[in-house]
Amino acid sequence: MKISNQNFVRTVLGDVNTDNLGFTQCHEHLFIEKGIPCSLVSSLHMDDYNKTLTEAIDFYEAGGRTVVDAQPALCGRMANNLVNLARESNLNIISTTGFYKTIFYDENSIIKTGTEEENTSFFISEIKEGMISEDNTIISAKAGIIKGAITKEGFNDFDYKKLFCAIANAALETGVPIMIHTDNHADIHALIDFFESYNIATNRLLICHLDRTNYNFSYHKEVLSRGVNLCYDSVNRLKYLSEQQELELIQFVLDEGFAKQIVLSLDTTNERLSSYGGYMGLDYILKTFINRMLEFGIEKSHINLMTEENAKHILAFRK
Ligand SMILES: [Zn+2]
Repeated sequence: MKISNQNFVRTVLGDVNTDNLGFTQCHEHLFIEKGIPCSLVSSLHMDDYNKTLTEAIDFYEAGGRTVVDAQPALCGRMANNLVNLARESNLNIISTTGFYKTIFYDENSIIKTGTEEENTSFFISEIKEGMISEDNTIISAKAGIIKGAITKEGFNDFDYKKLFCAIANAALETGVPIMIHTDNHADIHALIDFFESYNIATNRLLICHLDRTNYNFSYHKEVLSRGVNLCYDSVNRLKYLSEQQELELIQFVLDEGFAKQIVLSLDTTNERLSSYGGYMGLDYILKTFINRMLEFGIEKSHINLMTEENAKHILAFRK
């Protein structure tokens, strides 16, 4: 099927018209292979294909259609597994290039040793040609989103500055959407200023975790006023915030008129997913949280925006 240049997302099985996205979770972890991230944070280890497949099938049966796997190359991403999972589960799966926190990388990785230009080329090749798989070969499946991570040090850290420049270059070249991991109290205004200095529209940015990394309503309002999108992905992540707190934050930003800039997700780990022994399924939003939002008084039309409609423009490629 030939699809228009304007409205597509890039899944691991090819480009898909945004009308086919359906119910979408924009920041999840489906697989993370053994390596530095898992040795630092054991809850990140998720490489059991059948356990993840069970979650994916349950999610599909509950009405889920699209998942973004937020692990970039060279720090645990399992691109082959994502391709197989997409085929077997029928889900649209979007894979990630770019970079995560630099502590998660081998000293010899291009993320640490490469120049801005080398990282730019690497990211572009992952988006346009194909991704590095877990067995170190290049496969035909491509990345559909680019990720950067911002810490408290922000652009004062040379490695992060270099990598953010590479992300901006790759986004300008390819039109790929941009996802940002935020650490506690990272400076989101500086981040937005940075992308604006490249003439990248603020609505191309999907800023993740701010519900847990800066639970300050007026800060959320300020940041949203600049046009970025926020992924509230700490739903049912109770060690960070209660469901009541999550609902109050969502209600607040909806009341302030930002319904078109919010998406919801779970940012799963092996500690939380039932098939890995945790306390909820990947289908938690569909099966439980939507009802909680309705009981709380959140409008159905807003829920539809946050779980389906908004992802169509946030995840689309745009030049
Ligand atoms: Zn994550």
